[in-house]
Amino acid sequence: MSEVLTGKEMLEKLSYSKKNVFEEASADTIKAIYDYAEGYMKYLDIAKTEREATREAIAMAEKRGYTEYKFGDALKAGDKRYFNNNGKSVVFFNVGKDNISEEGIRILAAHIDSPRIDLKQIPLYEDSGMAFLKTHYYGGVKKYQWTALPLALHGVMVKADGEVVNVCIGEDDSDPVFYINDLLPHLGRKQAQEPLGTAISGETLNILVGGLPYADPEVDEKIKLSVLSLLYDKYGVTEEDFLSAELSLVPATKARDIGFDRALIGSYGHDDRVCAYPALTALLDSEKTERSVMVVLADKEEIGSVGMTGMQSDVLVDLIVMISNSLGADPIVVRSKSKCLSADVTAAYDPNFADVYEKRNSAIMSCGTCMSKFTGAGGKSNTNDASAEYVGFVRRLFKEEGVIWQTAELGKVDAGGGGTVAMYIANHNIETVDLGVPVISMHSPFEVVSKADVYSTYKAFVAFIK
Ligand code: MN
Ligand code: MN
Repeated sequence: MSEVLTGKEMLEKLSYSKKNVFEEASADTIKAIYDYAEGYMKYLDIAKTEREATREAIAMAEKRGYTEYKFGDALKAGDKRYFNNNGKSVVFFNVGKDNISEEGIRILAAHIDSPRIDLKQIPLYEDSGMAFLKTHYYGGVKKYQWTALPLALHGVMVKADGEVVNVCIGEDDSDPVFYINDLLPHLGRKQAQEPLGTAISGETLNILVGGLPYADPEVDEKIKLSVLSLLYDKYGVTEEDFLSAELSLVPATKARDIGFDRALIGSYGHDDRVCAYPALTALLDSEKTERSVMVVLADKEEIGSVGMTGMQSDVLVDLIVMISNSLGADPIVVRSKSKCLSADVTAAYDPNFADVYEKRNSAIMSCGTCMSKFTGAGGKSNTNDASAEYVGFVRRLFKEEGVIWQTAELGKVDAGGGGTVAMYIANHNIETVDLGVPVISMHSPFEVVSKADVYSTYKAFVAFIK
């Protein structure tokens, strides 16, 4: 016979509801939440591309004693190393002192590429008093959002002799910025009738880069020539050097507090630096852990995790092999005992677009880091559907460590969907589930997150690798 409880007591005992991180927090914790956001916002401003995110993450880790690892180097228990994957992806790892054949490796995997506008290989031309660069967008962008916005140019150009030139224009307040033209509403009557997806086409995303003709009446395309001469003066590059370049346009804006109470952060590139930064700082702050831990900051997630620097490459498994071998463990056994949080963002429930969400199973702002047991689309296709046992394991861990967290799906059934790196890691026989920060206006030039959810994600990662 069960004890006699009031309805309120029974409700408390049996029912589940999400908790708001701010509401549960002490004044000290709220201060910690706001303080943590400051460090994250600095990282956002300095790390807008995967190359910059890699460079800055390595600089942060080197300050905490991490040294570069190259395949073939000897490893031993206690080592803190990083593998720089072509300057575009990086894996930090601790070789642990515990029994890796029993405990495996704890892996946090985030990505550091974000949707943006890339240049074509032969980009520069002039037309009607203006010089432009042709582009090919990268990742899932809503093209109309990228017009009439200050843009900065980031990337590298490799010269004929192999010298790599770093380019970054538009971030300093004294720099010029770049721009994609849009149509004035006065002449936009037909455009306004077009669906959002086609009103701005890919081939109209041309970057406005100049308007001053070169001072020589004898040459054609004077504005193009004057742009080339400026690039030559500043970087020593010629038009042919665009052939071997990776140049991207990203919003020239900086991360800013949003709201009267500054509870939220607006920025380009939260997806997925908002998980990469907590993963990295969780590792750097977990100096006492005896575990073997890896933090992967991957490239190319936004275009399918492809290529050498994407999560589908063999680098993760190769590193597991090297770590296992160094400790005299079988890498197949180590993989089977390893556990991973695929650290990526999810869509936050937006009451302005309520019809694409199922509210009970949506991520609510400030209710903590969000677990997605599955992502995918059209009947759970293309997802790692994590096991109940593994979700239960993570749940117990978070309960022990007092992490406030929630679960969600990416929108209503059949409303759309999305994928993460989770399924590629799970393919290696590694338990994996998605966990990350809910985002408003994901993939837009200025995305929004809650400072409470960023901090909750950091706390979750610390708990996971403890
Ligand atoms: Mn992502
Ligand atoms: Mn994304």
